[in-house]
Amino acid sequence: MIVGVPKESYPGERRVALVPAVVPLLAKAGLEVVIESAAGEQAGYPDSHYTEKGGKVLPDRAAVFSAADIIVQVLCYGANDISGKADLPLLRRGQILVGFLRPLGAAEVVQEVAATGATSFAVELMPRTTRAQSMDALSSMATISGYKAVILAAEKSIRLFPMMTTAAGTITPARVLIIGVGVAGLQAISTARRLGAVASAYDMRPAAKEQVQSLGGRFIELPIEAQNAQDARGYGTAQDESFYARQRELLTRVVSETDIVITTAVVPGKKAPVLVTGEMVKKMGAGSVIVDLAAERGGNCELTEMGKAVDVKGVLILGPVNLASTVPFHASQMYSKNVTSFLTNLVKDGKVRPPETDDIIRETLLTQGGEIVNARVREFFKLPALVAASQ
Ligand code: NAD
Repeated sequence: MIVGVPKESYPGERRVALVPAVVPLLAKAGLEVVIESAAGEQAGYPDSHYTEKGGKVLPDRAAVFSAADIIVQVLCYGANDISGKADLPLLRRGQILVGFLRPLGAAEVVQEVAATGATSFAVELMPRTTRAQSMDALSSMATISGYKAVILAAEKSIRLFPMMTTAAGTITPARVLIIGVGVAGLQAISTARRLGAVASAYDMRPAAKEQVQSLGGRFIELPIEAQNAQDARGYGTAQDESFYARQRELLTRVVSETDIVITTAVVPGKKAPVLVTGEMVKKMGAGSVIVDLAAERGGNCELTEMGKAVDVKGVLILGPVNLASTVPFHASQMYSKNVTSFLTNLVKDGKVRPPETDDIIRETLLTQGGEIVNARVREFFKLPALVAASQ
């Protein structure tokens, strides 16, 4: 079977879905790689590296779509709402598509992907099991975002991060607060600590406490308890507005006493909760920095503007998008490893394994034969269950 890698088309995107190093691994599994010319260039992987590893470089996008049985992308239509739609006419019935598809985004968009007849797999739907860990692209990209958020904050901060004892006096370490301690939040804690800052963190899931402490962070406990804070997959759950209002009230003092705030609090398929208000920002010291990693999902800070830097009376609020793409060499390497593990599990002896035989295949399968077939997604969009296809 042939795996095709088109160049990413999202504006500013620098990642590539497969790096040259995985070409021989895929070949061993009977999968040949064809790649659009210059697809890996911005991530540090020129065409020649692919050909050296046995890949074939094709001159344009249409040639890749036409040659491949399986198309692998980072941001497919859905996750790429700006330019991704142009790929839909290039897809054909039965062709396999693997990538970020934002399956819990907009029903109409997922329906448009389904209408191509392609068999699409959304990496966002990867089950959180030990076996699927090596395929978990969401976690890989969140790790990079958490790291980069702290680097951005350090770069923009008016303070040094580490404690320094110098002849010119002692510098106290910066105080970094992380709100939302999933994969990105945990990496933000580690990175802040590596830079010498004092890291504190808060999450509504009590299970996060031990993880924060194991990284040397201080866990902030608030006298408020979420209802079923965590779902069966380990994700935080949506709470009612009175809960968020109380959180804001309790976080006001904590936020005002910090130099850097990194927010990552999200709930799958929902708008991000507002946890930092304009009033809270006003109470922060001038020169403080907020990096809102939930910017793409509406923002955890009321004043965040997606993709922009906003200065509110000396407090800088950054709402970066697609941070993983700013570290394209390693982001591509990690994504590539995730996708390669996924593909070698999906295809055995030159054939795609049926979803009934494997929970990873079943849970990531989004569309097939012109329909949205994923049970979780159908339920999310309140579509009637497709008993035979989705079970
Ligand atoms: P996420 O990106 O979905 O959300 C980030 C964090 O925001 C979560 O920890 C969530 O609890 C928190 N949050 C949401 N609303 C909040 C609010 N109102 N107040 C405070 N915090 C709020 O999270 P994630 O990166 O997907 O990680 C969630 C959990 O899943 C973590 O415990 C992580 O370690 C675990 N995980 C497990 C696996 C695996 O087992 N293979 C893989 C990835 C993540």
